[in-house]
Amino acid sequence: MPVNALYRDDFYLSTCEAVVTAIHEDGGIELDQTCFYATSGGQPGDTGFLERADGSKITLGQTKHGSGKDIVIHVPAEGQASPDIGEKLVLHVDWPRRYKLMRMHTACHLLSVVCPFPITGAAVGEDESRVDFDMTDTIDKDEVTAKLMELVAENHPVYLQWITDEELAANPGIVKSKNVRPPIGLGRVSLVCIGEDSAIDSQPCGGTHVSETQEVGQIHIAKIEKKGKENRRFRIRFGVPGDEA
Ligand SMILES: [Zn+2]
Repeated sequence: MPVNALYRDDFYLSTCEAVVTAIHEDGGIELDQTCFYATSGGQPGDTGFLERADGSKITLGQTKHGSGKDIVIHVPAEGQASPDIGEKLVLHVDWPRRYKLMRMHTACHLLSVVCPFPITGAAVGEDESRVDFDMTDTIDKDEVTAKLMELVAENHPVYLQWITDEELAANPGIVKSKNVRPPIGLGRVSLVCIGEDSAIDSQPCGGTHVSETQEVGQIHIAKIEKKGKENRRFRIRFGVPGDEA
């Protein structure tokens, strides 16, 4: 059943109420609405717990999409109780983890501004994220870190603009990633815009992001690896440079 995905309109929503609409054979839970982000576009799905009326908790190991992007399946961790269809629950996202993912995900967008090359892959993580670029240039990681931190310090606004799938199809040039599919299939696509009037960047993306670049905090490029002749893998970590082994 299609879910009302509240996280699409409010990235900062960490808790909400919901009613169980379906239980899958493997224990996966569908709800009428959710604030849990489901794995997609390189960002891992949320973890957390569902609170039952008696106060007991159902711990969630992961959140993923079902047969379509409008289906969200909340997967309980091993050995958790199963709720009943029609049961009302209070959802609690593991907020410290999600907030780190939002900061990291936004950092990946900033990196694509500093390195304006086609993106061939990306994976957002709570401790480290990686972005692969189709580029041959050699680039100094400390220089990239300095440019990233400049964008963070300038505290640009980060916000969404919605366009239709058709508008995106008519403007393929706005997609930077070569093999990560933009979030089409829901009729509307969110453009993640950075800076007033998208002065810094705008990019189709269905993930969750912070609302000002300053929230990204201290980050740095830990490593730039050569992955083939025309591929460079950038690893972003929190903290100041030099923590690496
Ligand atoms: Zn994004």
